[in-house]
Amino acid sequence: MQRLIGAIEAGGTKFVLALAREDGGVLAETRIATRTPAECFPEVAAFFEQAAAAHGPIAAFGVGSFGPIDIDPGSPGYGTFTTTPKPGWAGASYRDALGRFGAPIVVDTDVNGAALGEWEQGAGQGCRTLAYTTVGTGIGTGVLRDGQSLMGFSHFESGHIPVPHDRSLDPFDGFCPYHGDCLEGLAAGPAIERRWGTSLSKLASPADKIELIAGYVSQLAVSLILLHMPDRLIFGGGVMKTPGLIPALRKATEARLAGYIQAPQLDPGLESYIVPPGLGDEAGITGAIALGRKALA
Ligand code: ZN
Repeated sequence: MQRLIGAIEAGGTKFVLALAREDGGVLAETRIATRTPAECFPEVAAFFEQAAAAHGPIAAFGVGSFGPIDIDPGSPGYGTFTTTPKPGWAGASYRDALGRFGAPIVVDTDVNGAALGEWEQGAGQGCRTLAYTTVGTGIGTGVLRDGQSLMGFSHFESGHIPVPHDRSLDPFDGFCPYHGDCLEGLAAGPAIERRWGTSLSKLASPADKIELIAGYVSQLAVSLILLHMPDRLIFGGGVMKTPGLIPALRKATEARLAGYIQAPQLDPGLESYIVPPGLGDEAGITGAIALGRKALA
């Protein structure tokens, strides 16, 4: 008898909701636009109520969510949004939103969830230490060790690392409300749109611009290598789909490492080291289902 998992991939622009069997088979799935929790959470609960009425009771929930969010299972605020500038979200809680189902809930960040999905079924299979980074509306990284996500007193915030910013080459001030020209402020999707008026993939002559963005993102790639020595770096998210960006990132990362780290993982050209998600856009929801499996255990 397969138990049923409610899975939520919560992103800055949309929520993906799925009811799945323990083995990952999806029975029902929908997408809703991200607005305020007062608008989203009733729709989330309604979807799972209907899905449970059709397929059976939900035994556990897995949530991979944007943040900042409390992901410490020992904390009284587990599953609650913390200091987000996103209107209405500070203090919103998945445990409140899903409490009526009386099922255990595992909540992790969207990138930790996607990392888990990739580790189980995608480009991270066989890796002991795996880093999954998204470069999209925002920038974030999940780091797994043997399938367990790493954290400190909170989840990591790789998007906000400072990066060298040559204003003669790139006069854009950055858009992060806290730091201006941190990595996210310079290289996330909204930074690209504000700087050049459109997305990287729609620019007429993008070569030098791809190189600029790859240069910024390579600062993070090198930092991840130096801090965590992952077996592989996966880079997903809307910006990373730009043709030519992953090859440019490999080149910039290799140049910045300057031969300092010698390891079999770091193949010449980094073609098997820096890779796109094997599951594509399914990494997030696959990971949320895997988080639900952890809640069952
Ligand atoms: Zn920042």
